[in-house]
Amino acid sequence: MNLDATLGTGYPTVNWHTLPDGRVQCDVCPRECRLHEGQRGFCFVRGRSGGRVVLATYGRSSGFCVDPIEKKPLNHFLPGTSVLSFGTAGCNLGCRFCQNWDISKSREADTLADAASPDEVAGAAERLGCRSVAFTYNDPVVFLEYAVDVAIACHRRGIRTVAVTAGYVNPDPRDELFAHMDAANVDLKAFTEGFYRDVCLGALAPVLGTLEYLVHETDVWVELTTLLIPGLNDSDDELGAMTGWVVEHLGPDVPMHFTAFHPDWKMIDRPPTPPSTLTRARAIALGNGVRFAYTGNVRDVAGQSTRCHACGALLIERDGYELGAWNLTPEARCIGCGEPVPGVFEAAPGTWGSRRLPVRLGDAR
Ligand code: SF4
Repeated sequence: MNLDATLGTGYPTVNWHTLPDGRVQCDVCPRECRLHEGQRGFCFVRGRSGGRVVLATYGRSSGFCVDPIEKKPLNHFLPGTSVLSFGTAGCNLGCRFCQNWDISKSREADTLADAASPDEVAGAAERLGCRSVAFTYNDPVVFLEYAVDVAIACHRRGIRTVAVTAGYVNPDPRDELFAHMDAANVDLKAFTEGFYRDVCLGALAPVLGTLEYLVHETDVWVELTTLLIPGLNDSDDELGAMTGWVVEHLGPDVPMHFTAFHPDWKMIDRPPTPPSTLTRARAIALGNGVRFAYTGNVRDVAGQSTRCHACGALLIERDGYELGAWNLTPEARCIGCGEPVPGVFEAAPGTWGSRRLPVRLGDAR
C-alpha cells in the first residue's frame, strides 16, 4: 500500500493548528507532533495531507474478538458479559515492553484487514450478543474520530463502550473521547517520570491528569492496570507511592489490577514477573487503603476475587475469567452486610465465561 496515498485519503480531523513557521501541530496528545506536508506523526496513523491533519485508519480494523469483559481487565463493569474487542494500528507511546507491538507499531498496511463502518461494528456487537464494545489492542486516542463514531453507533443500539488506554491525551480531545465512553481501563505504567521518559518515550504527569479528570469530572467507570516488570517498576517504594497517590487523589474505590510481564518487543532481557510480585503489589495496595486490588495474567483465585471491603465476605469469585460464587444483591450490595459495591452491575452476572472468539466482521453481518 502506498502510504502517502493512505494519508491523502485520510479522514479529516480538527485537533490541530498551524504554526508560524508553516508547519501544523497535532494537538491530540502531549507529543504535539509538528508536521510538514506529507509527514506522519509519532503514532504513524495521523499525518499532514493537503495542509491539514488526517487520520489514516478511520473505518479499518486490525481484527475483532469477543472476549470476557474481565480480560480488559474490568472486574466491576457488567461482570460475566462479553465484549466485542477491536483496534486499529499505531500508538502514541513507545513502550519497549509492548505486548501488542504487532498492532501498535505496525505500519498498518499489513494489519488493517477488516473494513468496518461504525454502524457495522455496532451491528456486529448486537448480533453477537455483546453488551459492550472495547477500543483496545492499540490506544483509541490515536483513532479518536473513529472511536467516537463507533461509540455513537453503539449507544444508538444500547451497547456500552469501553476505552483501554494509556490516558496520554490532551484536554480537548480527552473531553471528546470520554464523553462517549461508559468505562475505561487506564494503564498506569509506573509511578516515575523516569520510567515514562526512558521506557515509554512519554510522561507521567499527563496520565495522572487524565485519571483525576476521569474520576472527578466524568461518569466513566474507571479501573487501573499496572504491568509489573521485574526491577523496573515493582519496588515497594514505587508501589507504595503509586497506591498512596491513587487513594489520595482518586479515592479508595478505583480498582487496581497488577498484571504479569512476559518478555516481548524490545524488552527480552527481563524475566517474566513472578506471581509473588503480583501478590506483594496487591498487599501494598490493600494496606494503603485501595479497597479492590487484583492480580492478573496468572491463576490466583484469592487475588482475583472481589471481597467486601466492610465485612470481608466473598462477593464475586473469579478463577481466571470464569465467575464462581456471586454474593451481591440485585442492587449490587454485599449480601452479608449490605455495603454497596462500586461499579456498574446488573441484577445477575453474565454467563459468557472465559471463551475468546475471534470473528471476521463479514461473518457477523
Ligand atoms: S496523536 Fe499522533 S500525531 Fe498527534 S501528537 Fe500524538 S503522536 Fe503526534
